[in-house]
Amino acid sequence: MDHVVGLRCLVCGEVYAPGAVDYVCPRHGVDGTLDVLYDYERIGASCSPEDLRRSAEQGMWRFRPLLPVEPGSEVPPLLVGDTPMYPVPRLAARLGLRRVWVKDDGRNPTASLKDRPSALAVVKATEAGAGLLTTASTGNAAAALAGLCAAAGRPCLIFVPAAAPPAKVAQLLNYGATVLAVQGTYDQAFELCLEGSAAHGWYNRSTGINPYMSEGKKTVAYEICEQLGRQAPDAMFVSVGDGCILGGVYKGLRDLLALGWIDHMPRLYGVQAAGSNFLAEAWERGEDPLTKAPIEAHTVADSISAGLPRDRLKAFAAVEETDGAFVTVSDEEILAAIPVLARGSGVFAEPAAAASWAGLVRAADYGLVGPQDRVVVISTGSGLKDVTAARRAAEEAGAAPIEIAADREALERALADHGIGRGEA
Ligand SMILES: *Cc1c(COP(=O)(O)O)cnc(C)c1O
Ligand SMILES: [Zn+2]
Repeated sequence: MDHVVGLRCLVCGEVYAPGAVDYVCPRHGVDGTLDVLYDYERIGASCSPEDLRRSAEQGMWRFRPLLPVEPGSEVPPLLVGDTPMYPVPRLAARLGLRRVWVKDDGRNPTASLKDRPSALAVVKATEAGAGLLTTASTGNAAAALAGLCAAAGRPCLIFVPAAAPPAKVAQLLNYGATVLAVQGTYDQAFELCLEGSAAHGWYNRSTGINPYMSEGKKTVAYEICEQLGRQAPDAMFVSVGDGCILGGVYKGLRDLLALGWIDHMPRLYGVQAAGSNFLAEAWERGEDPLTKAPIEAHTVADSISAGLPRDRLKAFAAVEETDGAFVTVSDEEILAAIPVLARGSGVFAEPAAAASWAGLVRAADYGLVGPQDRVVVISTGSGLKDVTAARRAAEEAGAAPIEIAADREALERALADHGIGRGEA
């Protein structure tokens, strides 16, 4: 990995040689998350954006020269990344905006953005010669690791809170993962996974602990800039639990800026659920996210429920250094955003993914974005991940099936009663 020059602790700034540390800064433990440093001159001399666009590799691996993997490492066969991004002019107009896109990362193989970091985890574990892969997760990171391990023919051990949505647990079981349903919160599952990994030498993919996860997530930012014609947007909305996606998006943009492949840094907006607002609260109150005490997190958007965001330093820097903001949205706003986004764009999002749209609605209201801005909203996971929440969202929007008897007369009555088809056919 000649293009990787080191790993820098976000607490003390100490730089470690690649391979000298596995997870976090030895001096700062789990707080000392590491940022991967690259030799941009070397990368820029070896490839161009056009080379990457036309690469023979698939999906996120087109960006291999900017990823912390050995050039010859084998990657899992599932197609991860290269997800679509759609302009949503009708939805934008309702907010007084003109140029808004939705990046649909629910279109990944296990239906969330987490496939990007998990694919990278499988490669890093193989490079490290590790046996068992493990992670703690609210559900999606686990499903992604399980799916990518299945594709690569490797075993994995998953720690989820017992309350994880059934669809996500169903994915894990069908992919063949060994699942430990922890009677506790995500934060407790995280600690247990950490202790088990230390004791047994498993390869730990958990967010925040593993410095490479934001590197996998950053590929979504590369694709977005590519899809905008090699330009950065002006503002981006990312839902935030542990903060790894937001930190990863920022990292991807910093890479492109350092390479001279984009000419400005977008403002980054982190969207948190009101009941899981650690970072938003720290930002509003001017508290240090490193020393702020954990909060109790409760939200319908399980994928962004985190009492102590593990990648809080990366996420905080993303907002602070780009002149962005943290925005909080209520569970009602999150649920309301699901049918709005689905009807206005065809993109069906799980609650945590729709939260980013709800954040844009707020931000437009606050005047943080305007018609001059090119805005990208990332939908991080599919609506099929949490059917119970989706059904509730539809009902709260007044949508319900019309029950009818199985005969023609009943059909005609229903058509008349509900005015179905009038002015359409
Ligand atoms: C994990 C996840 C998030 C939040 O990502 P963090 O890195 O924890 O901030 C948002 N949406 C979905 C669908 C997720 O799975
Ligand atoms: Zn340190």
